[in-house]
Amino acid sequence: MSEEANPFESLQSQIDDAAAYLDVGDDVIERLKHPERVLETNLTIERDDGTLERFKAFRSQFNGDRGPYKGGIRYHPQVSRDEVKALSGWMTYKTAIVDIPLGGGKGGIVVDPDDYSEAELERLTRSFAKEIRPMIGADRDVPAPDVNTGQREMNWIKDTYETLENTTEPGVITGKALDSGGSEGRVEATGRSTVLAAREAFDYLDKDLQGATVAVQGYGNAGWIAAKLIDEMGATVVAASDSSGGIHNPDGFDPVGAKQHKNETGSVVGYDESEEELTNDEVLTLDVDLLIPAALENAIDEDLAKDVNADVVVEAANGPLTPAADDVLEEKDVFIVPDILANAGGVTVSYFEWVQNRQRFYWSEERVNDELETVIVDAFDALVEAYEENDLENPRTAAYVVAIQRVADAFEEAGSWP
Ligand code: NAD
Repeated sequence: MSEEANPFESLQSQIDDAAAYLDVGDDVIERLKHPERVLETNLTIERDDGTLERFKAFRSQFNGDRGPYKGGIRYHPQVSRDEVKALSGWMTYKTAIVDIPLGGGKGGIVVDPDDYSEAELERLTRSFAKEIRPMIGADRDVPAPDVNTGQREMNWIKDTYETLENTTEPGVITGKALDSGGSEGRVEATGRSTVLAAREAFDYLDKDLQGATVAVQGYGNAGWIAAKLIDEMGATVVAASDSSGGIHNPDGFDPVGAKQHKNETGSVVGYDESEEELTNDEVLTLDVDLLIPAALENAIDEDLAKDVNADVVVEAANGPLTPAADDVLEEKDVFIVPDILANAGGVTVSYFEWVQNRQRFYWSEERVNDELETVIVDAFDALVEAYEENDLENPRTAAYVVAIQRVADAFEEAGSWP
């Protein structure tokens, strides 16, 4: 990971690439390249020792033409205005490619949560919830977890909102614990959409997933579930990595055992079914049928892309390839299933959570998984149709062609308001 792409510029260049194939005016494209609004705010909370500390925070509402803004809230020292804007744009096109009736948003607080107590994080989260309360709501903007936030923070935000509004409205936020109105199947959803997308890609390319070799970079929620499910589908997971390094066994290993080892020791490294340790870059450049990047943004830059040896890349992570790396893989004829489709299982099951909250009627895990499969298969079919019709080189562009057209249609059908 050397060259750092500005994420907002990456988003805009992806939109430009797709715009060339779209029957949409430049004026509309210009609108679809920028967020509708971005809240930048300063939160001041009391530390446990009685002193005050200020934190910068953002909420970007990128586009609401297809429904309420939807997107997570991230706690990280590197959160920036441009990052939040880009992530909110990707959410817009992610909800559009999977055709769920939501728009795109994203939020974040510039904070390293490891440096704060639980009570301080609760005050910070409630302060942010109070600040964004006028912007959010089940029909307005529905936040969710992202990096370093989870069910705990979502429950605090829901409680703050409901207390201030004097109502019960679980659909104001998704990613909640099951007892607080969460959905079955949410925890596995991102890994599940990743492997469904991989299965569809192999089918489309006439490649056999049975026995196909797989490398997974990043062994957190998205990566390890993808490894477990692709193994259950008959593929062979031969390599995995986390922030401490990678493991490799050309004959494959049990992904569940690797996860247990990580739970016990903090890393996959040292797992007894591994034959050798690899660096992270070696995992990313291994000669495999399928590579699943499931760690952070910009994991593969232009130089590393030259050494990538996989036939298919399915992006569980958001933005794992820099735009230059994307070009290199395109030249090498690597088939890439883009993040906005591959990892859309998370937002799709968030949508199911929101639907269940509105209906106050809850589904079985089987129903959630079946509905998710239909959504991902339909989205992949739409991508392939655009890919073939426009004779495109890169499936990512095809995904944006479909998604941008859907957003533009919703905008144009709505007519204009002064
Ligand atoms: P996570 O924190 O659970 O896991 C991240 C994993 O990446 C960890 O195993 C960590 O050790 C590893 N990692 C960090 N730096 C690494 C490096 N340099 N090399 C190799 N591994 C490294 O996070 P997650 O929820 O699994 O998210 C992973 C990616 O998937 C992110 O890009 C996220 O935005 C995306 N995503 C997740 C969801 C979801 O529902 N969890 C939904 C959509 C997209």
